[in-house]
Amino acid sequence: MASKLILLDQDGVLADFEQGVRQLWQQTYQQPLPLKERRHFYLRDDMAPEFHRQLAQIYSSKGFFASLPPMQHGISAAKRLLEAGHDVRICTSPIQDYHYCVSEKFDWVCEHLGEDWMQRIILAKDKTWVRGDILIDDKPQISGSLVPQWQHWIYDQPYNRHQTELYRINWEQPETWSELLNN
Ligand SMILES: [Mg+2]
Repeated sequence: MASKLILLDQDGVLADFEQGVRQLWQQTYQQPLPLKERRHFYLRDDMAPEFHRQLAQIYSSKGFFASLPPMQHGISAAKRLLEAGHDVRICTSPIQDYHYCVSEKFDWVCEHLGEDWMQRIILAKDKTWVRGDILIDDKPQISGSLVPQWQHWIYDQPYNRHQTELYRINWEQPETWSELLNN
């Protein structure tokens, strides 16, 4: 495959957002995250309304984004895509309560991918404004005010399996992305 401009989403693709929430919830409230099934993209949509405030507190707390564990094989995958000659960028949307989120997203990239990757970060609330050939993202539907130039490859997560229209990729299943390494 010829050299591509590949946009990688951060949460749910490189950083294990879900695991991070579960860990901090357990640590903060001394009990597991109260949900049975993961069916919706947003965790709150799988949780009873009485927990929504506590969930928002987890997202907005200092250190949450910086301490997210990396997704299995995500870091090595990002590095291999770059080594294969692609222009790889991290395309991420900060949460509404951006105070810690924005700076800690940078901290996270610096810690796990290294300082060279800091220049590869693109913060965008609307990802349709960002150019690229492929956007690898766990969100089932990505919309915005422009017609996207990229092709959306969905990063496989339990909460997006209802999306069957998009090409599905998982770092733990090399056959889903090894095509990108044959440059
Ligand atoms: Mg995501």
